[in-house]
Amino acid sequence: MALIGKKRGILERLDAGEVVIGDGGYVIALERRGYVKAGHWTPEAAVEHPEAVRQLHREFLRAGANVLQSFTFYSSDDKLEISGNVLNFTGQQINEAACDIVREIANEGDALVAGCVSQTPCYLDTKNESEVKAIFRKQLDVFIKKDVDFLITEYFEHVEEAAWAVEVLQSSGKPVAATLCMSPEGDQHGVSPGDCAVRLVKAGARIVGVNCHLDPMCGVKTVKLMKEGLEAANLKAHLMLQPLGFHTPECNHGGYLNLPEFPFALESRAITRWDMQKYAREAYNVGIRYIGGCCGFEPYHIRALAEELAPERGFLPPASEKHGLWGTTLATHSKPWVRARANREYWETLLPASGRPKCPSMATPQD
Ligand SMILES: [Zn+2]
Repeated sequence: MALIGKKRGILERLDAGEVVIGDGGYVIALERRGYVKAGHWTPEAAVEHPEAVRQLHREFLRAGANVLQSFTFYSSDDKLEISGNVLNFTGQQINEAACDIVREIANEGDALVAGCVSQTPCYLDTKNESEVKAIFRKQLDVFIKKDVDFLITEYFEHVEEAAWAVEVLQSSGKPVAATLCMSPEGDQHGVSPGDCAVRLVKAGARIVGVNCHLDPMCGVKTVKLMKEGLEAANLKAHLMLQPLGFHTPECNHGGYLNLPEFPFALESRAITRWDMQKYAREAYNVGIRYIGGCCGFEPYHIRALAEELAPERGFLPPASEKHGLWGTTLATHSKPWVRARANREYWETLLPASGRPKCPSMATPQD
């Protein structure tokens, strides 16, 4: 469905108090589908297999996402070069292809396009502000040329680098959302979530929050600390959360990369759609209005967020046509004990089994 007229911007939506549903993680989902190589997690599939990227965008849109992020994770030139994954294309070609694909699909609905940058190897190697900023500027040039709706800095472990990215991106005049992958203990330098939030807002971010590394409930805690830091500093920003779609209760500061199961055996940790509804409600209750996901989030997880928050948003996503709320599609099942599962209480209180007789409930993180 093509929409006529200009879409309302991200700040317009958030300032009006609306809930904005984000999309899910692309690299993990596309690795599982056979289009991304684990390790460096670079997005050359935007050029090599555009139909795979297009389809995943479309599924997130159908599930209720109001924002589709460009598939430009780790697509700074220095990262692409180190990865050895990209031999026949330039970083600019990948970034441009990703922007074209995401715009095409976003225009099938009411979704906005976010141009995304992530942390660079250059920062860890050099800590050189002008070199790091030059890398982000090059990516920004593509986002300006392709006229994305707003910009996101995601997957930064160090607030210093994220703030540099925000400073570059906000020079475009487009709104900037800044998310760090951090725990309630703060970033990898131990800067607290509250101080990180203050620093990002002072750099020019209008939306701040957390993405990746840890599970939704941990993310809610961290964003709450960011909110308190902003309040104490008398600063205002919208709050955002895009956590893992995996349970990580035993993880510490380093997040899920330190789990023995990362990245090829995380299936038993997958969060169910019903857990996602709890997450959406918790996030909403602490004042987070941009609610999405990162690694491990599949389209049905995004649908669960949209379904939980349907009373606030006033509508269900297209994908709910095939999904009765709280399992009600089972109401006509031929077997009575399956029919009995067609209710909220059943799914809300279920503790799913792992199916593995010797499966421990927790692992020991390796750091
Ligand atoms: Zn992630």
